[in-house]
Amino acid sequence: MRIILMGPPGSGKGSQAKFLVETYHIPHISTGDIFRENLKNDTEIGKIAKNYIEQGLLVPDHVTDEIVKQRLDKPDVENGFLLDGYPRNVAQAKALLEMLQERGWQLDAVLNIISDDEIIIERIAGRRVCKKCGKIYHVINHPTEIENLCDVCGGEVYQRTDDNEETVKERLKVYYKETEPVIDYLRNIDSSIVLDILGNGTIDEVTKKIKAWLGDKK
Ligand code: AMP
Repeated sequence: MRIILMGPPGSGKGSQAKFLVETYHIPHISTGDIFRENLKNDTEIGKIAKNYIEQGLLVPDHVTDEIVKQRLDKPDVENGFLLDGYPRNVAQAKALLEMLQERGWQLDAVLNIISDDEIIIERIAGRRVCKKCGKIYHVINHPTEIENLCDVCGGEVYQRTDDNEETVKERLKVYYKETEPVIDYLRNIDSSIVLDILGNGTIDEVTKKIKAWLGDKK
């Protein structure tokens, strides 16, 4: 399965990604995670990406396309992948389609999670993430049992620096202007691979809808 997971920040992509990679045994390729890893390790890419991420803006395409290209050359991607957070604009979508074509690969699914801005802002402002295993919490809806410690691995649970209300609003603006057109761009190429899902329900409700649709496709 080669899947692209689309949707605004805070639409629940991370939670659905977990189910998808476990079900289809495919690697989770999140450009946001790759950038955060580079930031943590203070690499050249991390230094370039830092200001963009902190302002909620897109890291330049040539940098982002290159990290995806390198990732798609790793052997674990042979049987498929889940792309999360990429492509983020039409130019990246074109670059991705070229990368796939070069490798003789087809896309199987574009999952588009739709959510209301108010729900998104409330979700993101309360979102906390485990530094070690990436598990996602929410200060009100899903707090950790012990404050700031992950229930699963005991890692430190923190708030991403770009998960504040001001940056979220900027990220949403960028999403509607730059990223939403990608869905129609891909839909125009092949509408049968695009699923629009309302993401306002519980994680399980959204998962069920995705499962049913992907099940029918196989
Ligand atoms: P995310 O974790 O997907 O919300 O990404 C966090 C931040 O990383 C974004 O707000 C961007 O600054 C940067 N980023 C992630 N993916 C991309 C991408 N495909 N293109 C440009 N910037 C990206």
